[in-house]
Amino acid sequence: MQIIASVPALQRLAQRWSRTGTRVGFVPTMGSLHDGHLSLVKRARQLVGPRGKVVLSIYVNPTQFGPGEDFSRYPRDWERDLRLCRAAGVDVVFAPDDRQMYAGDAVARHSTYVVEEDLARTLEGASRPAHFRGVTTVVAKLFNLVRPEVAVFGAKDFQQAAVIRRMVRDLNFPVHIDVAPTLREPDGLAMSSRNQYLRGSKRAQAAVLWRSIREARRAVRRSRRGISAVRLKQRLKRFIEREPAARLDYIEFFEPDTLVPVAKVTRGAHLALAVFVGKTRLIDNAPL
Ligand code: AMP
Repeated sequence: MQIIASVPALQRLAQRWSRTGTRVGFVPTMGSLHDGHLSLVKRARQLVGPRGKVVLSIYVNPTQFGPGEDFSRYPRDWERDLRLCRAAGVDVVFAPDDRQMYAGDAVARHSTYVVEEDLARTLEGASRPAHFRGVTTVVAKLFNLVRPEVAVFGAKDFQQAAVIRRMVRDLNFPVHIDVAPTLREPDGLAMSSRNQYLRGSKRAQAAVLWRSIREARRAVRRSRRGISAVRLKQRLKRFIEREPAARLDYIEFFEPDTLVPVAKVTRGAHLALAVFVGKTRLIDNAPL
């Protein structure tokens, strides 16, 4: 397994792969890897075959964090990440620092951004205003560097995958976007690097995101003609906030392709929610 920190070194390698017609699968991450990330690696390997190359990037991208968010304390575990990547059969770990990713003396001097202006406005985009601008910008940069044939994202970040797909379509990136299912802990909590923040009873309370998804499914499946989104939101907010450390940030029901909210929630609508459990902000989503 190769570990590359330098942008020019990665560019040289990607150029060589391009000349030799090597298939490249790409998994962008912020590190602190868990089985969810590793399932994306497995998927990338399936897609490019044993002779293809699987690149995993580890980069905690400062431009996708807002002021007051957890950028500086985001969990980092470099040695463990490398061990997991080796065991999972990753060919190249690309782990640049801010100077490599954001020209010269880092973020302050960077002035070109990629902005998706439709799907990125709602949900996470409404709660975290500059978040998707940071995501689309860094993913566009990574696509330009790695030049993958396919990039694998997790359904855990449903809106992110939708925004990236739109960016790829609108800007003609020659990459296929594959979205792999959300991996969960036994109690249903979606795996996330941020779960490490959950201490004591908060870990068990965090399963309320998954339980509220199941509650919504039951309600929708019981009703013949669908349920008012407003009423279902109120009901789930109460359900979630019965957990003492849980506070709902948002819960929305929408069309999965357009992310446009629905007034009546029926089967096939998509649910996404963000909940603070203590200071930890968790997200989840699922089709109903
Ligand atoms: P992150 O390191 O959190 O930026 O995530 C990197 C990639 O892993 C993104 O495409 C995420 O959607 C994906 N991912 C994160 N958690 C999970 C999970 N529990 N199951 C599947 N994919 C995940």
